[in-house]
Amino acid sequence: MSTTKFGEYGGQYVPEVLMPAIEELTDAYERYVLDNEDGFMDEFRERLADFGGRPTPIQRADRLSERYDAEVYLKREDLLHGGAHKLNNALGQVLLARYMGKERIVAETGAGQHGTATAMAAAHLDMPCEIYMGKRDIRRQRPNVFRMRLNGAEVNPVTVGRGTLKEAINETMRDWATNVEDTHYVIGSIVGPHPFPRMVRDFHSVIGEEIRDGVQKKTGGLPDSLVACAGGGSNTMGTFHDLVPDEEVSLFAVEAGGDELVVDDEEGVAPHSASLSTGSEGVLHGARTKLLQDADGQIVESHSVSSGLDYAGVGPELSHLVDEGRVTPVNVDDTAALEAFHRLSRTEGIIPALESAHALAFLEDELGPDADGEHDLGEVIVVNVSGRGDKDLEAVIEETEKRDLDAAPSMEVMYE
Ligand SMILES: *Cc1c(COP(=O)(O)O)cnc(C)c1O
Repeated sequence: MSTTKFGEYGGQYVPEVLMPAIEELTDAYERYVLDNEDGFMDEFRERLADFGGRPTPIQRADRLSERYDAEVYLKREDLLHGGAHKLNNALGQVLLARYMGKERIVAETGAGQHGTATAMAAAHLDMPCEIYMGKRDIRRQRPNVFRMRLNGAEVNPVTVGRGTLKEAINETMRDWATNVEDTHYVIGSIVGPHPFPRMVRDFHSVIGEEIRDGVQKKTGGLPDSLVACAGGGSNTMGTFHDLVPDEEVSLFAVEAGGDELVVDDEEGVAPHSASLSTGSEGVLHGARTKLLQDADGQIVESHSVSSGLDYAGVGPELSHLVDEGRVTPVNVDDTAALEAFHRLSRTEGIIPALESAHALAFLEDELGPDADGEHDLGEVIVVNVSGRGDKDLEAVIEETEKRDLDAAPSMEVMYE
């Protein structure tokens, strides 16, 4: 039996109508994922290799190593099929749905990254797929909407509320509750009611297993620290999980510090997404966790320059590991992330996702020329590059022009 909680976090805060679906899924998780019934995990790993391109490389970043006077390695999840870590989870859940005899997939998406990964996995496994996406997000993310359609998925616009991720999750839960018999809900991060946080983590934990093997081969030991960005926290826990028991490895979860670490109670907004660093306990999307909320306990609207980190909650397991002192939550602001985006692109030839750029910016904050050096990262540092930045080019051009960035190429020349 898997427990539903991580310390005081997690649980199953869902309406009664969803309990049968949650129980059926918990049973399937325990049998197929934990016990490898019918060889589920073997098929999953084989498909991750053949369709996904695993294992992804672990690469020494030569210029960053020189700049920071350390051995800096990059875990290249940007090279996974689809350009981000998200396929690990999407493929795992769609395959599980097939083992469970389900005939239809639904999923929510914010910026469209999870929607595109799910649509890809569903096409690969020949499952009909519907994606719920806020109307505002559909307008902002046209290429991703088109990608989902190309892979044969239907995209359902959500018009309630502000028409963004939070409302899209609620709509998908509603669809699932109505169609539990034949439908599986592929949730996009280590959030939601049990068993999702554990199950999604398990599908991503291949990242940390490959880091352990790769670093062992290259250095003969374990890394001193792991650094990953945290929105919901799935790439973070995927990176950390296998090494959580190795207490000598420091774990840093880098959140989006946005513009400023405040909450505006009047407007119900926060210009950041740092729920682990600054949030308080509450219940969101079926789980107790750390959240950004106002003085009345209302969830506030979060912000980040990277849409994938723009979420007011975070996975319950990360909240727990932070309270335990095992994971250190840190944050970097939008400008630092943009600078890190340009730095990696120019010095290493890798254009990272804006989400991943947050993890890279943390190294600069700690070890760069103007660093405050608050934390000890040790000698061998692994940064998870959770995705590639092609999807962010429009946003980067716009945000770079607004700022006077040291590391940025002149965008003006490009317009002449
Ligand atoms: C979605 C996304 C994230 C944030 O999601 P987590 O669940 O926090 O990992 C980070 N990086 C990339 C590239 C993403 O697409």
